[in-house]
Amino acid sequence: MYFPPDKIIGYEKMKQLCLLDSEETAFIEGNPGKLHRIGVTGYYASLAGNGRENPLRKQFVPSIKELEILEYEKNDPLCEERFSPSGRIIRRYPDRVLFLATGRCALYCRHCFRRYLGNLSGGDAVREDADTLHRYLVSDRSIREVLISGGDPLMLEDDMLEYLCSGIRKAGRDIAIRIGTRIPVVLPSRIDERLCRMLSRFRPLYVFTQFNHPDEITADSASAVDLLSGSGIPVFNQTVLLKDINNSEMILEELFYRLVSISVKPYYLFQGDLACGTSSFRTNLMEGIDIMEKLRSRMSALSLPLLAVDLPDGGGKALLERGSVIGRENGFFLVRSNEGKVFPYPDE
Ligand SMILES: *Cc1c(COP(=O)(O)O)cnc(C)c1O
Ligand code: SF4
Repeated sequence: MYFPPDKIIGYEKMKQLCLLDSEETAFIEGNPGKLHRIGVTGYYASLAGNGRENPLRKQFVPSIKELEILEYEKNDPLCEERFSPSGRIIRRYPDRVLFLATGRCALYCRHCFRRYLGNLSGGDAVREDADTLHRYLVSDRSIREVLISGGDPLMLEDDMLEYLCSGIRKAGRDIAIRIGTRIPVVLPSRIDERLCRMLSRFRPLYVFTQFNHPDEITADSASAVDLLSGSGIPVFNQTVLLKDINNSEMILEELFYRLVSISVKPYYLFQGDLACGTSSFRTNLMEGIDIMEKLRSRMSALSLPLLAVDLPDGGGKALLERGSVIGRENGFFLVRSNEGKVFPYPDE
């Protein structure tokens, strides 16, 4: 079956192309409005195998387990709304802000924790939103980094991205811009010379992408990354630890070595967030800690990311090591956050 690589394939088209089996279409159609949005790129669909157990396919084909919502799972697990000084700006930490550029993505990851953004009112950011961000940065000089996130910001047109970055740059010459995007992994053809030339004008600018499995590192994704690095844009990776997809010492070891071999620095390995319907993707908190301890005994710091978790109820990030888990109580681990406070995370 041929999939035009640059096309984004929505549900109806996925069905036509036989990307879903009959059980899957039955439960998807039987539960309208209950699932996170569905979509994949032709490129990624051709990369993924057919079987239900394929580690790439699992990242975009919904499973019936998504309908199971645990009592501690939330639509907004990090309580980002509470830290939002204006609609698209989230300020959880003193020196950096996150800007929600769009609710759209090229591929809708089944493990996504920003799934509520699919409903982000107004959809894509417009010039007025970029102006609001510019004014916010001008009004508070203590902000050193802006994370452009979403959704996937590279879904925006080049013109809008340029306007957004230029507003940030005009607010401060040395504010670091970080673009969080899965595009190099799922739609590498979007990264072209023109985009890289434009982005490189706004350095210091970094791209943070999300490779979750060694099979995602292909000649195409490696060239996309090369175009970025060749334009002076360093590329970092944030992997999500995913049960039955990459929760093994061997798979992660290969992923991290291969990332370094294409000049991508593994930055974070994230323990899953407590987003609604994602329990089938989460590993036990101790599993990631065990895997990282083993990898640390033989791999270099260049190849190794930091294991981190975003704690529920707005607890913020916590670097995870054995010592950050300070107790266990009523089915929850007690985890010390980077700010030194203690929050519960389920022992599931
Ligand atoms: C994760 C996160 C950041 C970035 O944190 P780093 O540890 O620097 O990667 C910034 N803002 C928010 C709201 C975040 O969740
Ligand atoms: S690309 Fe990011 S925001 Fe979009 S669905 Fe995947 S994890 Fe969520």
